[in-house]
Amino acid sequence: MTPSGLLVPSLTMLPMRYTDTRGLANGLQFDDVRAGGAAALAGPAFTDVLIKGLAPGGGLFVPESVPALTLEEILALAGLPYATRAARIFAKWKLDLPSETVETLLAEAYGDNFDVSEVAPLREVRPGMHVLELWHGPTAAFKDMALQVMPRLFGAALEARAEPGASIPDYLVLVATSGDTGKAALEGFAGRPHTRIAVFYPRQGVSELQRRQMVTQGGANVAVFGVEGNFDDCQSAVKAAFNDPDFNAQLLRRHNVKLTSANSINWGRLLPQVIYYVSAYADLAASGAVSAGEAVDFCVPTGNFGNILAGYYAKRMGVPIARLICASNENRVLADFLETGIYDLSGRVFVNTPSPSMDILISSNLERALFELAGAASVRHWMEQLRQTGSFSVDAETFARLSDLFAGGFVSNSETLRTIARVHGEEGYLLDPHSAVAWRLAETMREDRALVVVGTAHWAKFGADVLRALEGRQPDDPLPVGLLEHPGKMLAKILELAPGESVPRALSDLEGRPVRFDETIAGTAEAVEAAVARSLG
Ligand SMILES: *Cc1c(COP(=O)(O)O)cnc(C)c1O
Repeated sequence: MTPSGLLVPSLTMLPMRYTDTRGLANGLQFDDVRAGGAAALAGPAFTDVLIKGLAPGGGLFVPESVPALTLEEILALAGLPYATRAARIFAKWKLDLPSETVETLLAEAYGDNFDVSEVAPLREVRPGMHVLELWHGPTAAFKDMALQVMPRLFGAALEARAEPGASIPDYLVLVATSGDTGKAALEGFAGRPHTRIAVFYPRQGVSELQRRQMVTQGGANVAVFGVEGNFDDCQSAVKAAFNDPDFNAQLLRRHNVKLTSANSINWGRLLPQVIYYVSAYADLAASGAVSAGEAVDFCVPTGNFGNILAGYYAKRMGVPIARLICASNENRVLADFLETGIYDLSGRVFVNTPSPSMDILISSNLERALFELAGAASVRHWMEQLRQTGSFSVDAETFARLSDLFAGGFVSNSETLRTIARVHGEEGYLLDPHSAVAWRLAETMREDRALVVVGTAHWAKFGADVLRALEGRQPDDPLPVGLLEHPGKMLAKILELAPGESVPRALSDLEGRPVRFDETIAGTAEAVEAAVARSLG
């Protein structure tokens, strides 16, 4: 064969490779390979990372390098449709999928399923304080920003990796949810080829509005089950089923189905979140709120550290970000970590707050930030300490780097509700409790530069606490009988107090929609397995 007959891809066509936070993937110590200067053994590319989710050895996949955007490239995004901005940013990450496919999927994902054409608009709520509204998608929470994209890419990845002529097994996405993720994943996976989804939610633990969002979900490939007990019971049962080898073998044999999970440690959920940081900066510069290249702060309501970590990668790509402020609620393990360098779970009790999507003690995605700052050997050591003793403490050098990038703090439950009422009174802007935590912390930590508060949910999703806030009540105050059971009445009551507001259609017509799934099962692995088997027929 002549050299001209060989298909040699140019360097720029090579896909981005991934390594993992613990340096254990493929049994290789990537640290050592690199130290020896050896040509890197090619790690997995995007589609592999997307389908696998978790790296072998228990770590998380991370990119081998972070691509750069020039300031000109960032500024040039202003005025383009959001899907085009997304395509330009994705192109830099060199997915192992045809770029036309990626562009088509992004156009579908960020189309008229969002209720504003900008998709992720910025609102200057107070001079110099902007809210980035990430809740205009079909489920009214920021999870849509990733979960409208990831399932589409997942389907494309399965097709791209299939052996010619061989049948592609279906993937069943198993989800245990405390609220927002379940609905966003259902909406993202419904009707997608080669995938099915089964969502389990705790009967004691999601609001009536959230429950109705899930049990009225359309689509032939979806199933939803209530689980007796709280979120912990639900999550343990689903995890046990997920890790049961017999169950996995049975699903493959009888139904040609493999299990997967769509949780926020999947790189396929992180990458789409980088886009809105870049996009927001382009909009800020275009509006004159910052001059080109001037740095801004972002304040992010944080649970699993996924959203704020995407901000970190955006900064690495070149977005002029000064501080990433990590806002916690009363579950303040991250705020304490950023203040002291000690991540300590011992003696901490889980607190229920008005911002349940941030009620988390183990922030899985923090591991990626630690890897980027300190490398795989340190991460292995710290994660082992965390497992054995419930805490770890980073070294002084890592702490200095961490403090350079991130600031942190927390806001109490009652302060959160007071903030909702006050900002509504002062600015005529109604925040949901998650965004309110970030707003309040941003007020107290503001420096002399433009600041973006990342808004993660529409207020109507968390009506009970928004109503308490507007009525000047305390977080645990009981509400009038009947309101909790009837989201429609609750929202009507809020609209009396906040007459300029409106409720997205996806939330306002829920009571009229037929319930498709009303089964409640026991909180055990056996019950979860039996439910999955029934849903497969
Ligand atoms: C998931 C979620 C968060 C937390 O985001 P992380 O990526 O887990 O830090 C904050 N607010 C809302 C409304 C959410 O749904």
